[in-house]
Amino acid sequence: MAEMCGNCRNYLDSRGICRAHPPTAKDDGSARWPSVSRSDWCGEYKVVPPPVNQGLRKLASA
Ligand code: SF4
Repeated sequence: MAEMCGNCRNYLDSRGICRAHPPTAKDDGSARWPSVSRSDWCGEYKVVPPPVNQGLRKLASA
């Protein structure tokens, strides 16, 4: 899988932002996460964890 924002754990697809670090304070008193494109990338790329296997979870709690 390509190491790009669209595949990164820190990427929030619905808003197109990166949450690798806390938001940055702006002059108007707001704080914002950086906007990134799906095809962007950086050195802090993190793999999205695999989906939880519900069958294994049931076995572990039985
Ligand atoms: S690749 Fe970098 S910039 Fe892009 S979402 Fe991940 S941490 Fe953020």
